Amino acid sequence: MSLKHHIAHALLGAGFLLAPAAALASHPLADLESHIVTVAAWGGTPADPVRARKQTITHITLHHQGEPFPAGKDPVQYLRNLQTWSRGTKHWLDIPYHYIIDLDGRIYEGRKLEFAGDTNTEYDPLGHALIEVVGNFEAVQPNQQQLDAVVDLMAMLAAKYQVPVEKIAGHKDYSTQTVCPGANLYRYLQNGYFREQVSLRLQRR
Ligand SMILES: [Zn+2]
Repeated sequence: MSLKHHIAHALLGAGFLLAPAAALASHPLADLESHIVTVAAWGGTPADPVRARKQTITHITLHHQGEPFPAGKDPVQYLRNLQTWSRGTKHWLDIPYHYIIDLDGRIYEGRKLEFAGDTNTEYDPLGHALIEVVGNFEAVQPNQQQLDAVVDLMAMLAAKYQVPVEKIAGHKDYSTQTVCPGANLYRYLQNGYFREQVSLRLQRR
């Protein structure tokens, strides 16, 4: 069974109709949320709300996985492993990020957005919507589907929570302890690509 079929099978099993990731950019922003793969759909379990720090979104912050994500690696298994590691090894509430973007530009739900994220570095992520893109962008380039998904997701969040594009940044803008989101992805923050594309996406929503 191919990877896509495997995911489609898993999601259909959960009553989830899978849209082609490449089609997302043509959807109005209001519809984007319904295309995000929920925690239940990828086989994750909800976090304990009692331990959560509640937050209101004021920033949108980009991360990378920081490890190689080879073609053919199963993103659903990656997410399940990440959730287990986050809780078991790190003793965090959940996956540290609110959204994860795979190699096909598909967007998965991680930690609930109303709960503040976690980090290995010195900044306080309270108020930040945390987006992780799989792969190590110190070593590889992001592909167009990933860039498009980042723009779509940032625009959806900016619209919903009235976050100005100036509050779109990368992990290393808040921490001296990391190169995250990696030079080849950070470039698109540095040169204004994401802020500009998000502004355009907001205009045609
Ligand atoms: Zn990071």
